Amino acid sequence: MDIAGLKRELEGLKIEDNPAIVKQKSRDFFWYSPVLKRQLDHVTADLVVSPRDEAEVIRVLKACYGLGVPVTPRGSGTGNYGQAMPLSGGVVLNLAEFNRVKSIARGRVVVEPGAILAEIDRQTRPGGQEIRLHPSTYNTASAAGFIAGGSGGCGSIRWGGLRNIGNVLGLRVVTMEEEPRVLQLKGRDLMKVMHAYGTNGIVTEVEMPLTAAYDWVDVIAGFDNYMKAVRFANLIANQDGLLLKELATVAAPVPYDYFLRHRKFLKRKDSVALIMVAPHALEPLLTLAAEEKAEILFRSDIATAEEKKGLPPLFELTWNHTTLRGLRVDPTITYLQVLYPFPSHVEGVEKMTRIFGDEVPGHLEFQRFDGNVCCSGLPIVRFTTEERLDEIVRIHEDNGCPIFNPHRYTLEEGGMKRTDAVQLAFKRDADPKGLLNPGKMIAWEDPDYDWRSDKVYLFPGLQAAAG
Ligand SMILES: Cc1cc2nc3c(=O)[nH]c(=O)nc-3n(C[C@H](O)[C@H](O)[C@H](O)COP(=O)(O)OP(=O)(O)OC[C@H]3O[C@@H](n4cnc5c(N)ncnc54)[C@H](O)[C@@H]3O)c2cc1C
Repeated sequence: MDIAGLKRELEGLKIEDNPAIVKQKSRDFFWYSPVLKRQLDHVTADLVVSPRDEAEVIRVLKACYGLGVPVTPRGSGTGNYGQAMPLSGGVVLNLAEFNRVKSIARGRVVVEPGAILAEIDRQTRPGGQEIRLHPSTYNTASAAGFIAGGSGGCGSIRWGGLRNIGNVLGLRVVTMEEEPRVLQLKGRDLMKVMHAYGTNGIVTEVEMPLTAAYDWVDVIAGFDNYMKAVRFANLIANQDGLLLKELATVAAPVPYDYFLRHRKFLKRKDSVALIMVAPHALEPLLTLAAEEKAEILFRSDIATAEEKKGLPPLFELTWNHTTLRGLRVDPTITYLQVLYPFPSHVEGVEKMTRIFGDEVPGHLEFQRFDGNVCCSGLPIVRFTTEERLDEIVRIHEDNGCPIFNPHRYTLEEGGMKRTDAVQLAFKRDADPKGLLNPGKMIAWEDPDYDWRSDKVYLFPGLQAAAG
């Protein structure tokens, strides 16, 4: 790889080649998985280039195309599956400094790719608006990183996931060709690059819908039995008149053992429902909670300043923050991503809870999916061996609960276990040399690979990066 030649071509751009910093910017939260930690720990790029506008992105892509250097885009590097890790080395394209909020109108906002989600809201809130969805990494994640790597988050109980049409309005995308093109994607075309891990284009502008902003109230409801928490959450999730932003359940003893800063409100036997509710919906929520004999353990609207001191916002107990808090207390745990069957999701959860007990303590995120309330799981796994982890995956799948495997770095194995033909076709068009984020799309790397077999895909470039 002609890195010296590339540096010459990119003169004037912000380039980092200090190996320690380059390695740091070549990592994400892959270490959540003991499997990915083993496979990817050595991975590093050769250079980090930080463009500040679209013209600089085009310059980098053109130069890398000419020299055959791989490019892996990076927002804030909070992805969980090695998504932003450069398996073949080359350039990490750090978009963190290309980050302005460009325009705000009623119902919509246009931002640059590296704009931090919380910063977008800081600018839209004075006009009474906020973004519909955000991951629990709201305070650090970038707009394009969320769209290229994420799936949903707080707000999904009302609005569904990122892939539901209408939750992203437009994307500008630069292709990886001799003369990079700038494409404006809308409607179904957005799916070409959404959740494609940056394998087929670089997002340089994002247009998202906005919704009414509220001073959301954080509520923790406690139950002496996990299934009571799940049934309560399912009940309130299905109330059409109740405006919620977040609804999760977590099984005992995880809240007490891992939510250390909230421990003063919890007992070890407490399974909890974690709720963000609009102020006008609080009273109706409390009415339901009283009827269902839920114990209200915490309410941010009445907690004293002293009680709230040092507490993270409730959304930082949810989604993948639940696992993060667990890992800080017990680095040996890991997690899974489970889809429970609809409409029998509560029965699915009950069955898995019965089978695994405390080996796989429950964590559900309630959300709308194609108009229906359902839940997906991010249960903690008390990890012992990779073989047992695979067995836990298999038992879920044998019981009709598909796993989106967070211990795999490819799009197919971590997702629907099939090729996304639209994304593959777009890659052929937009990245003919296969230089964007190599190793993440099996269908591109090895069209004959039987990824439905039990074999785990291992990208050959991993060895090259190691060597
Ligand atoms: C504690 C924790 C909690 C999390 N909670 C959630 C959650 O609630 N919901 C959720 O969906 N995810 C969650 N995640 C995963 C991750 O934080 C989010 O998906 C986040 O939005 C990623 O943003 P990022 O800027 O860090 O992206 P990165 O990690 O930098 O990148 C993500 C992917 O997008 C690609 N990419 C980045 N920028 C571009 C671009 N401009 N053009 C093309 N491709 C690009 C990267 O190559 C990579 O494949 C969580 C992770 C952690 C560690």
